[in-house]
Amino acid sequence: MKVAIVEGDGIGKEVIPEAVAVFDYFNETYGWNFEKVPVEVGFGRWERTGVTMTDSDISLLKTCDAVLFGAVTTSSHPSYKSVLLRIRKELDFYANIRPIRPIKGIYKLLQIKDRKEEDVDIVIVRENTEGLYSGIEEIGDVRSTTLRVITKSASRRIAKHACGLAGGRKNKLTAVHKSNALKSDILFLESCRKVAEEEGVVFSDKLVDIFAYDLVMSPSKYDVVVTTNLFGDILSDLGAALLGSIGLAPSANIGDNRAFFEPVHGSAPDIAGRGIANPIAAILSLQMMFEWMGKKREAALISEAVEKAVEDGIVTPDLGGGYTTKEVGDYILSRIRLSDAASFCLEESL
Ligand code: NAD
Repeated sequence: MKVAIVEGDGIGKEVIPEAVAVFDYFNETYGWNFEKVPVEVGFGRWERTGVTMTDSDISLLKTCDAVLFGAVTTSSHPSYKSVLLRIRKELDFYANIRPIRPIKGIYKLLQIKDRKEEDVDIVIVRENTEGLYSGIEEIGDVRSTTLRVITKSASRRIAKHACGLAGGRKNKLTAVHKSNALKSDILFLESCRKVAEEEGVVFSDKLVDIFAYDLVMSPSKYDVVVTTNLFGDILSDLGAALLGSIGLAPSANIGDNRAFFEPVHGSAPDIAGRGIANPIAAILSLQMMFEWMGKKREAALISEAVEKAVEDGIVTPDLGGGYTTKEVGDYILSRIRLSDAASFCLEESL
């Protein structure tokens, strides 16, 4: 297996090394021999060389099975090309998966009393290749347009992926759309409805505006949610607010043969370089990579160690703690080592 490591800009350079330390632990302890492939992309590179990434970077990423990605800074400069949109399109990472499930004990730590952790357990499945991020734009001084593209094939493909996830959960799927105002969403909605019917998944739909309200007021109504690109982008950040910090939200971008894992947050220039960024979203993105690879035991060890860090209050300032990125990363790794050794001894003694 080849895993590309893309730190990117800002806090990407601080949180990804903590996830890589966990990756290295398993890779070395269990002799997996996964190859790490460092790839530099983003704003820092653009400032230095005038390009965010090259065709050969894309070719290199295509040789990898998985990508662990930090975050990139974007620029509004007309010559700046979005790294993420290009990677998602060219590597056809069509399904963006964002779990909205609070870490056990986080509401207690943050003294959140107006909702219960067990009421929040949603997966947002966002179509990642078209919609308002089609890239078809005409920019003018008096009129600018962006074309919203919805196709039957991409809508069916994302609905099928969402149904697969629903099948492993409560077998319920909700399509979120705005078909009353955006007629292009009728195709999305009806494609999702048809696929759910074919797959035997219980289907419902919701207009995006009331869904945003529900997500905050009554998240327990939902399980797996499928939606279009821009709605998914916004709703999943809103969902991250239910987790307690954007620094806790991981995500996956899945394609047919490879996948890309990244924290939901950006490069956070306001805190970059201070060593206080929360590394948990990056570490949980690695956990999602292990799940995708079928390494369930290792993924579970990561989740337990993260819960322990929260329980013990070993957290960064965004969660009210006084620990650095590295201290939190080191603590999580130390808990993984402990639990791994303990479960190994238990297996030996059985
Ligand atoms: P951001 O997510 O970088 O930061 C928003 C706020 O959350 C900031 O106050 C930041 O300090 C805080 N924050 C984010 N991650 C944190 C963490 N791990 N620990 C603690 N606090 C954290 O969003 P932004 O400020 O809107 O964007 C900054 C730059 O990142 C922009 O250039 C934007 O385009 C880019 N961006 C990139 C990605 C990506 O690479 N996937 C995603 C979003 C934004």
